[in-house]
Amino acid sequence: MLYKRSSALFHEAQNYIPGGVNSPVRAFKSVGGTPVFMKKALGAYLYDEDGRSYVDYINSWGPMILGHTHPVVLEAVSQQLEKGFSFGTPTELETEIAKFIIERVPNVDKIRMVNSGTEACMSAIRLARGYTNRDKIIKFEGCYHGHSDSFLIKAGSGAATFGNPNSPGVTQGTAKDTLLARFNDLASIQELFHANQGEIAAVILEPIPGNMGCILPDEGFMQELRKICTENETLLIFDEVMTGFRLDFGGAQKALNIDADLVTYGKIIGGGFPVGAFGGRKEIMDYLAPMGPVYQAGTLSGNPIAMRAGLTTLTILDQDRDLYNRINTTTKILHEEISTILSNKGIAHSINRFGSMVSVFFGDKTIRNFDDAQQADHATFNQFFHHMLTEGIYLAPSGYETWFISDSIQNIEIEKTLEAVEKFKK
Ligand code: PMP
Repeated sequence: MLYKRSSALFHEAQNYIPGGVNSPVRAFKSVGGTPVFMKKALGAYLYDEDGRSYVDYINSWGPMILGHTHPVVLEAVSQQLEKGFSFGTPTELETEIAKFIIERVPNVDKIRMVNSGTEACMSAIRLARGYTNRDKIIKFEGCYHGHSDSFLIKAGSGAATFGNPNSPGVTQGTAKDTLLARFNDLASIQELFHANQGEIAAVILEPIPGNMGCILPDEGFMQELRKICTENETLLIFDEVMTGFRLDFGGAQKALNIDADLVTYGKIIGGGFPVGAFGGRKEIMDYLAPMGPVYQAGTLSGNPIAMRAGLTTLTILDQDRDLYNRINTTTKILHEEISTILSNKGIAHSINRFGSMVSVFFGDKTIRNFDDAQQADHATFNQFFHHMLTEGIYLAPSGYETWFISDSIQNIEIEKTLEAVEKFKK
């Protein structure tokens, strides 16, 4: 049995942890089967408890852009650890990383560190509400901004995977202030602005969504959205938790040539440690406590180990300017080759890619929004997932997710992946 020890560990875990996992999508509930318990990760590979290895296309859901356990990050973190784990006081390192980021990303004059992407997005909308003195926000069906109450309304990622994008426990009072628009559908946005004039604090979106699978914005969509926000004095919040530092330092703002009012980050910014951040123009950010009236805080925010891992990762990305070209090229090759193989087999599919994010959908439909993503052939995806897993290729266990390509994926891993796709039978 391939996953003997994983099965035993999963069985045991369920006695003590709800569903045996600390984040739902890890449970393999939608694809079926037993989640694989990992015990080690190095470079392009994950190693499980049964002694098998996998080429990793999740990369901890995005953070491990360099691959796992990068020696330079490991050394920097080890040295930092010797100085203490957490001080609960300001440190020079926090200014260093803030300055480093601000000098390199667009439209961020000040930045605050938090502990997760959820916290970053939750804090950004509180700030937007406080700053504009308005209550309502617009989010898009299928976009995921973490599990804070305001966002669990038709959310993507795990919330979509489990077919329950509206969670019990989110009060009607909270839900009424989250208005829902459809991605790539300007009319749906205009209607909401028309019906709620002067009431919308912010529009938040993943500029290149990755949580309903990878989706690309239509030509002109984002420009028009920016215009509508400006006309209505509504803040445009780009959730770059996935795209930040993955598409290069400019993120989606630069790739799409759009200026956001607030930007949220996570994943890569912590180099694999628990970090999120949000930033924006000085006058908005200075509305935060202790300068301003909007409260936001965190016991471990700006934790020195996490800051050191993040700063070291970002420094490597900044210095190795060819890195983004390399991972984008790897992703393009995977996209094109996988598509050719599936076409030759007569398996209907469509693949969306942006930079080093890519999703393989099955079925005839082109995927432009959440409705499309829901209509993709998820049964075939589940079969594909298990086939690839058996072949030693680790994909996200849901058809609503994105693959994240790391710089550790080399030709040998690409070949291994394509050989596995070759063997797939629907
Ligand atoms: N925003 C986006 C775009 C995300 O992809 C995620 C997590 N996948 C989040 C926010 C929430 O981040 P976290 O899981 O760190 O709370």
